[in-house]
Amino acid sequence: MLEALEQLLLPSECTLCHALLSFRNHRRLVCDLCRHRWRAVCPPWCERCGQPEPLFGPCRLCAPWPDAFSTARSAVWLESGARAAIHALKYRGLPRVADELAEAVARIPIPGRERAWLVPVPLGPRRQRERGYNQSERLARALGRRWQRPVADLLVRVRDTAAQTALTPEARLANVAGAFEVRNRSPETPGSRPGSGESGLESRLTPGASPGSLPWPPLILVDDVFTTGATLAEAARALAQAGARTILAVTFGRAVLPDFS
Ligand SMILES: [Zn+2]
Ligand SMILES: [Zn+2]
Repeated sequence: MLEALEQLLLPSECTLCHALLSFRNHRRLVCDLCRHRWRAVCPPWCERCGQPEPLFGPCRLCAPWPDAFSTARSAVWLESGARAAIHALKYRGLPRVADELAEAVARIPIPGRERAWLVPVPLGPRRQRERGYNQSERLARALGRRWQRPVADLLVRVRDTAAQTALTPEARLANVAGAFEVRNRSPETPGSRPGSGESGLESRLTPGASPGSLPWPPLILVDDVFTTGATLAEAARALAQAGARTILAVTFGRAVLPDFS
């Protein structure tokens, strides 16, 4: 309903550069040119966290991650155009931009994704109230439609964490420590209504579930931005403690130069 209203009220112009959209693209929010300006994150990178390889020594970024957290990848570098798209998604009340971002994320090759569930990184209660929606959940649902994978709201953010600016990777990890808890929730399959997900899956998600219960599927965390990966690592830690064995992550944007100073 809201999205239909939004479509009526918004002129057919690119949300980012305000160029008029071609008839072919009139339902889109971002024009071809703006999308082509997004610079894809490419190898060489750390095979685990997807960060460009360190010049010497082991990768500092993913060294403290829990063992179950095997892979993180991002679609594009968080430069001006991509940053504006994230901003539109988060602050301009344009959750439909999620579909534009999901198109870029969907191109990331993720091994085993055909069996995985997508798990959005939740907002804290205060931010969720202020924004009215979780941008990562919108992104996860749009990605789920493209990948034909279910979205499972398995995580709760039990506290609002301080802004992550200008903290070292270690300080960022400490800042988000204990921020997430796992709840029992069966997934919403693409196209289904909330609450009508597959039944009989909840026992899989019970922490310490009996050995007879079905194994956890691979989980793919979905977030808008990767800076040092601390938030994703903490979310992965909570899922691993609840029994998940394979956790991956995808984000739309990746910070260009994390400030480790
Ligand atoms: Zn544009
Ligand atoms: Zn790494």
